[in-house]
Amino acid sequence: MKYFKRYFAFILALVLICSNGGFSYAIADNSVESILFKNISQEELQNKALSENGDNKAVLFENGNTDFAIVIPELCSKTLREAVTTLQDVLEKMTGTMLPIVNESQADTAKSWFCIDAVMNTERPVEDGLYDGYRISVDDKNISICGAAEAGTRNGIYAFMEDILGCMFLTPDDTYIPKQKTIYLEKMNEIKKPAVQWRDVYAYETVQNKWAAKLRLNGIDIESENPELTIEQLQYEGWGTWCHNCYSYLSPDEYFKEHPEYFSEKNGKRVIEYKGRDAYLCLSNPEVFEIVKNSLAEKIAENPAQLYWDFSGNDNPFLAGCECSKCKAADEAAGGTGMGTLLPFLNKLAKAFPDKYISTLAYLHTLKAPENIKAESNVVIKLCSMPGDQASSYLDGGNSNSKQFKNQVEQWSQITDKIVVWDYVVNFSHLLMPFPNFAVQAKNQKFYEDNNIIGVFHQASRENGGEFACMRAYVLSRLMWEGSDMDVAECVSGYVTAYFGAAAPHIIEYMNLCASELYNSNKALGLYDGLLAQYDGYLSEDNVKRYCQIIQEAKSAVHGDAIMERRVEEIELSVIYANVLQPGINKSERQTSLDRINALCEKRNITMVCEWESLESFNQNGLKNAVSSEKRELNKPYLITGGVASGVVIAVVAVTVVYRIIRKRKKLIS
Ligand SMILES: [Zn+2]
Repeated sequence: MKYFKRYFAFILALVLICSNGGFSYAIADNSVESILFKNISQEELQNKALSENGDNKAVLFENGNTDFAIVIPELCSKTLREAVTTLQDVLEKMTGTMLPIVNESQADTAKSWFCIDAVMNTERPVEDGLYDGYRISVDDKNISICGAAEAGTRNGIYAFMEDILGCMFLTPDDTYIPKQKTIYLEKMNEIKKPAVQWRDVYAYETVQNKWAAKLRLNGIDIESENPELTIEQLQYEGWGTWCHNCYSYLSPDEYFKEHPEYFSEKNGKRVIEYKGRDAYLCLSNPEVFEIVKNSLAEKIAENPAQLYWDFSGNDNPFLAGCECSKCKAADEAAGGTGMGTLLPFLNKLAKAFPDKYISTLAYLHTLKAPENIKAESNVVIKLCSMPGDQASSYLDGGNSNSKQFKNQVEQWSQITDKIVVWDYVVNFSHLLMPFPNFAVQAKNQKFYEDNNIIGVFHQASRENGGEFACMRAYVLSRLMWEGSDMDVAECVSGYVTAYFGAAAPHIIEYMNLCASELYNSNKALGLYDGLLAQYDGYLSEDNVKRYCQIIQEAKSAVHGDAIMERRVEEIELSVIYANVLQPGINKSERQTSLDRINALCEKRNITMVCEWESLESFNQNGLKNAVSSEKRELNKPYLITGGVASGVVIAVVAVTVVYRIIRKRKKLIS
């Protein structure tokens, strides 16, 4: 009996620790990435090396005086001229002196030249994998920024302002410019290349005021002057076609009546749609290939500058490709994936257009990489990180969602050396809610670099004013350019100091608390999380109260400074939004919070709180529905009874085991 008591107490303690009321279990291994932002002073933001002279230095400005003039090509595109004008403006704001801009034919009069693009006998840089990178050289009498093409030169100009002069293009309208009357530049002759060949951050903000050019994103159209174009229409720069487009090559209207065999078979019948959604083509039919090839040739002839051309299936989750005997056999031979028919088809297209990249989506029935088939060298595979996770990196694959994507990419990188990743980087259900996903980004970038990824499409919010929208776009853009060696914590900390001024220490405190509470919870960070998904984590009632306090302190720190107050209000909107959804707050606090959300949204012209719900509808029913569903979820009786029941079952099993052990021992002793 003595043994029984001792074992019983031990097992009971174990049960209590493990069951923790029946809801959660002790965490042995934390898969969430951690990050620590730090306070940086305004002085630390300045590039001190600029004011230090030395043998290896060239003088651009000395006490506001300069011998340099900017020399531009006779024929200069509008976007390149905009970059040059920005450079001139930034230098004037730094030093108080305006550098003249002259055409190449007028350059003789200047004593020293700041050469833009291939002027004054500058040869364009040639190097493998340069893409839209550039060469920068600095000497006593000559500074030169030149790309393999104009886009590279433009990137070089913006990089010069950020990397060397210490400016930051913080938002579409705000640039941080340090004051610096003397500028000594390190003499150099270097080639700089982007870490990712094709770079896009899909967000409302990146297409405003041509900010994408300053972010050095080449996946967004910055040439167009048409104000009518939507965000969607300004995306996918470089791509002639993007996705879900097989019917644009071979249209059912034109062919189905005469040639039903061109279309996918389902249950013994040729179909052009299934369950209300477009079906597929029959890719093992050689005539289909000829029609698609000719159609692609026409498309390319209409739009020859585009490098990437996608041919992919329609978006139909109910149909796993064509079921005809030929297609089925090929798919089965490839290990049961639609790529058994699609990849050989694509390889043939790629061979027909060797100077273009031919892309397709690995998605639904074509998600799985095929066995025994390799992709041609100009085939591009596009992979979406669905269901996605923004807490655990793809590099480590620490939870099931990040692991799933990690495996897919790794399998595909055995078959192709050209992958484009489509990642999702915001909470689409709650665009304003705190979403601490900065920690994961550097490791994700490292994963891309290790796995043949040539392009990254970071999908953020298409709506105005999402949570930390500008900072997120800024950091992701820098990361895609600089690569995984970039210190994300330092980049964010610098951004916060430049953008929030005297409020920066409070914003850093808030961001650190948010990130550490997510880390401590060891939870996934989903793209459609409701508040309750993080209610026992970083969005707990206590945490959100603490965020609100910190942001009030941030507001006090910049009181009277209208610009800074407005910037802090961007974060205030996020924390109050998290507060208004709390199931536990009383009616009057909810109303006060809702009024404040409306006032802040009105001030910044924010009309959407979710990708599919307007602020207006949120005011009418959305908030009520969200909170009542959370309350329902919280009070689900089966969770409580389930917790108690599981505790009882574990206890009974444990007691039985212990009882048997003791009986055995007693038998042995006797
Ligand atoms: Zn078929």
